[in-house]
Amino acid sequence: MRFENKVVLVTGGTRGIGRACAERFAREGALVVLCGRDAATAARVALEIGPNAEGAACDVTDSASVDTLVAAVEAKHGGIDVLVNNAGIEKNGLLARMKDADWDSVMRTNMTGAFHCCRAAARAMLRKRSGRIINISSVLGLRGQAGQTHYCASKAAIIGFSKAYAREVASRNITVNVVAPGYTVTDMTASIPGAMREDLLKAIPLGRGAESEEIAAAVAFFASDDAAYITGAVLCVDGGLAM
Ligand code: NDP
Repeated sequence: MRFENKVVLVTGGTRGIGRACAERFAREGALVVLCGRDAATAARVALEIGPNAEGAACDVTDSASVDTLVAAVEAKHGGIDVLVNNAGIEKNGLLARMKDADWDSVMRTNMTGAFHCCRAAARAMLRKRSGRIINISSVLGLRGQAGQTHYCASKAAIIGFSKAYAREVASRNITVNVVAPGYTVTDMTASIPGAMREDLLKAIPLGRGAESEEIAAAVAFFASDDAAYITGAVLCVDGGLAM
C-alpha cells in the first residue's frame, strides 16, 4: 500500500499502459483519477477498477479541458500527488507524404498534452512543495523508426522537456522522470502487420513484447518513496531493445 492517501492522475487511463498504471496505483492504495476523451468510457473503466478509481473526460490537446479537470480534482481531493502523462497516439506515414494534420495531432497529443498537464498540476504541487511527475516516452524517441518521424520527434521531445522541467522544479521537491517503453502489447500495437511484428520481436534481446503491467511497475517506482532522489532520469522498459 505504497500510495495510501495519495491522489494520482493518469492521462489516457482508459486502456493499455495507462489503464495498467491506474490499476496498479489503485491496488496500492491511491485514489486514482483516470481520463480519456470519452466520459462514459472513462467512468466504465474506473468502475471496473474499483472504488478508489474515478473516471473523467479530458482531451489533453485542449488546455482548457486539462485546466478544468485538474481544478476539479484539486477541489474534490485537495491536490494531485502524482501525475502520469501517458495519453498518446501514433500514426504511420513516410515524411514525404505526411499531412500537416497528422504531424500536428501527434505532436499536440504526445508532447503539448504533457505540457498542458504539467502546467496545470504544477501550480498546486509548487505550493505544496511536493510532487511526482512521470512522463511516458518511447524507445522510438531514442532510436528512431522509419514511417514515424512525428511520433519519434514527440517522444524525443518528451525527454528534453522532462529534463528541463526537472531542473525547474527540483528545489520544490518535485521530481520529473521518464519511462520509455519498448514494444508493448496494447491496442496501439495491435495493428502492426504479422511479418513486421516478427521482425520487431527478433530485435528484442528478451525475445518478447512487454505487458502493460511491466511498464506500470516502472511508473509506480518513480512515484514511490524509493525514487525520492531520482529526477530527470529516463528508464527504458524495453527488453533491451534500445541498448
Ligand atoms: P493505447 O492506444 O492503448 O491507449 C492510448 C490512451 O491514450 C487511451 O486511454 C486514450 O483514451 C488516450 N488518449 C489518446 N488521445 C488522447 C487525448 N487527446 N486526450 C486524452 N487521452 C487521450 O496506447 P498505449 O497504452 O499503447 O500507449 C500509452 C502510452 O505509451 C502512449 O503515450 C504511447 O505513445 C506510449 N508507448 C506505447 C508503446 C507500445 O508499444 N504500446 C511503446 C512505447 C510508448 P481515449 O481513446 O479513451 O481518449
